[in-house]
Amino acid sequence: MDTGKRIVPPRLGVPDEALALYVHIPFCETKCPYCDFNTYAQIEGLIPDYVAALQHEIERWGALLSKPQTNTIFFGGGTPSYLPVHDLGHVMSTIREAFAVDSAAEISLEANPGDVDPERAALLRAVGFNRVSVGVQSFDDGLLKMLGRRHDAKTAMGAIRNFRDGGFDSINLDLMFGLPDQSLEQWANSLNMALELDTEHISLYGLTIEPNTPLEVIVEKGDLPEPDADLAADMYLLACEQLEAVGYLHYEISNWCKPDKFARHNLVYWRSGEYLGVGPGAHSYVGGRRFETIRSPRQYVEALRSASDLPTESDALAAMKQIGIIASGGPDSDRQQAADFLMMGLRLSEGISSAEIETKFGVDFPTQYQDEIKRLHASGLLDFAEDRYWIPHDQWLVGNEVFSQFVELDTTSGG
Ligand code: SF4
Repeated sequence: MDTGKRIVPPRLGVPDEALALYVHIPFCETKCPYCDFNTYAQIEGLIPDYVAALQHEIERWGALLSKPQTNTIFFGGGTPSYLPVHDLGHVMSTIREAFAVDSAAEISLEANPGDVDPERAALLRAVGFNRVSVGVQSFDDGLLKMLGRRHDAKTAMGAIRNFRDGGFDSINLDLMFGLPDQSLEQWANSLNMALELDTEHISLYGLTIEPNTPLEVIVEKGDLPEPDADLAADMYLLACEQLEAVGYLHYEISNWCKPDKFARHNLVYWRSGEYLGVGPGAHSYVGGRRFETIRSPRQYVEALRSASDLPTESDALAAMKQIGIIASGGPDSDRQQAADFLMMGLRLSEGISSAEIETKFGVDFPTQYQDEIKRLHASGLLDFAEDRYWIPHDQWLVGNEVFSQFVELDTTSGG
C-alpha cells in the first residue's frame, strides 16, 4: 500500500519564455557510418554561399518576427566547428542585428575534437560562443575507429583542455554506449576519463542502428554484432551510479550536469517552449505551429539566392513558405501539443505540471488521461503530487514505456 508522502521534485530554474534559436550547419569532413542527421561530406565548396543564405534567412525571420528576444542560441549539425571561425562570426553578427540577444544568453557550438587548438578555441570564444558541446563519443581508440570518427582519445582530451584554456567555462561532453563489441569495462574506462576532465555537463546516448545507414548494412551482413540491449542497460545504470556519486545532477534521461549548469537551450525543447530553427532540415515550433525547412542545402541556397523581393504575406510562416524554404508545417491540435508536452516534459526530473497543460492547451490531464495515469502509477512508472507528475528516477531506463502510452492515446483517441 502506498502511504508515503511524495516529495515533489525541484524545478530546474525558471522556464525561459523567449524564442530559442537553432542554427543548422550541414557540413562534416567525413560522414560517420551510424549517422542519419541531415549533414553532408565533401560539399565544402558550398560553404560561402551557404553562410550568405543563412544570414539572409536569419535577417528575414528577424524582420518578420519584429526582432524577437532570444536567450539561447545553439549552432548544431553537422559539425559547426568545421566552419571557418570568421564565417561563424559573421552569422553571429547577423543574429545580433536581427534578434534581441540577451546579454547573458547561452550561445553554444557543437564541436568535433579534431577541429580545435588553443588559438581557435579562443577565437570561438571571442566571436561570442560561451558554451561548447564536444562530440567525444568514446575514449577507446578501437571503438572510435569502428564509429568512423576522425579523432582518437588523446585528441579528445586535448580538445577539452584547449576549450578550457580558450576561456570556456561551460563544456558538455557527449559519450555513446551500447556500441557493437563494447564491453562494460571499456565503458567504465570512458566514464572515468570523462570524470577526470571534470566538464560541467555530460550527455550519454545509447547507440541506435538507424535505417538506411552504412552501419545498418554492416550489422545486417554480420560484420559487427547487434548492440546488446541488456548490456546497454547495465552501462546506463553504471553511469547513473558513477556520475551521481561525484555530484552530477541527473536532470534529464540522457543528461547530467553540475549544479545550475543545465543545457538552457535544450531545456526550452524539453519544456515545449518556442524555438526557431534556421538552415536546411531545421525544425521549428513557433506560435503553436511546427514546421521544417527543406532538407537539401543546395536547394536551400538557391531558394534564398532568388528570394530578393520582399514577401507579400504578412504572416511570418506564410512569407517564408513563399520563398520556398519551408517543407511542411501547420498548426498542431491542442491535444497533439499536449501529448508532445507530456513526452518531452516527462524526460525531465522535474516532470510536468497538469495546471500548465490546462492553461496552455485546455487539456484536463488528470481527467482525460486518468486510465493511463492509474495504470502507470500502479506499475510504479509514474508518480504525482500536487499538480506535478514525474517518472521515478529508478524507472528512467524504461521511460519509453511511459511515453508510448501517451503517444498511443493521442493517435487513437481522435479527441
Ligand atoms: S560528425 Fe556528427 S553530424 Fe557529422 S557525420 Fe559524424 S555523427 Fe553525423
